Amino acid sequence: MATLGIPSNTVAVLQKHQFQFQKKYGQNFLIDSNVLQKIVDAAQIDKEDCVLEIGPGIGTMTQYLAEQAGKVIAVEIDKNLIPILKDTLSAYDNVTLLCGDILKTDIQGLCDTYNEGKPLKVVANLPYYITTPIIMGLFESGVPLSSITIMVQKEVADRMRVGPGTKDYGALSLAVQYYAKPEIVAQVSPDCFIPKPNVGSAVIKLTRYETPPVSVKDEKRMFSLIRAAFNQRRKTLVNALSNAGMEQITKEKVQDALEQMGLSVSIRGEALTLDRFAELSDRLWS
Ligand code: SAM
Repeated sequence: MATLGIPSNTVAVLQKHQFQFQKKYGQNFLIDSNVLQKIVDAAQIDKEDCVLEIGPGIGTMTQYLAEQAGKVIAVEIDKNLIPILKDTLSAYDNVTLLCGDILKTDIQGLCDTYNEGKPLKVVANLPYYITTPIIMGLFESGVPLSSITIMVQKEVADRMRVGPGTKDYGALSLAVQYYAKPEIVAQVSPDCFIPKPNVGSAVIKLTRYETPPVSVKDEKRMFSLIRAAFNQRRKTLVNALSNAGMEQITKEKVQDALEQMGLSVSIRGEALTLDRFAELSDRLWS
């Protein structure tokens, strides 16, 4: 049975091992069993599943995951947490603990070794300082994943699910929505962590599409277009794209494409839907 997720037990483990929090690793450990259960329920894990947990901390969520999943692979960067994890996870024989940086981990290799190349489920209370590179890396790597259920800063969860015309809409929204269906599972108060973060958090589930909701000839080019559009989001799309140094893209070419699409040449990227970015990309590199 999971023993962590209760403040007094977490404090006891931290004291027993004289653990010192490392701010640079975004360490805020969950101490609320309701939130933990919500995350695990939302991830819909059963004994057929192999779960990749990023940043297990002292193993609080890992215990919940290990009870429901067939297998858990937990990747933790902080070597000082490894002896603690060995202690808190000693009752579970279905957990593989790895010490390393998730951004440098061969996730495809883990998938092949531990799950016969079948899709993994990712579950994590993410270190907030690298949320975006982790999510983008997971999607862009092409590693088979069926879903990603993660705790992130509330504002980042909002960015992932909004559409055009809102201040939070940007490259992250479009990338997430190209690869997955986003769904907020819970709002989480700073009181649910030790130490308390300065911001509110939210749990978001990203369910991977088998086929993206829009079709585009060259996905990589579309994303370079999207990044260029939002790097200079105050500029018109024509100026932002023609200044970005992208191959074959001139001011006239962007203007022509927008006119053919029935859009104003003074439109900004933040007004375009994913569909429209796909169409623009196909027209610019046809
Ligand atoms: N899962 C634990 C929990 O919910 O209590 C801890 C979550 S804490 C927000 C983030 C964890 O990710 C920390 O344990 C931190 O050391 C770890 N971490 C930070 N950067 C990492 C990286 N690049 N790769 C793997 N783990 C990382």
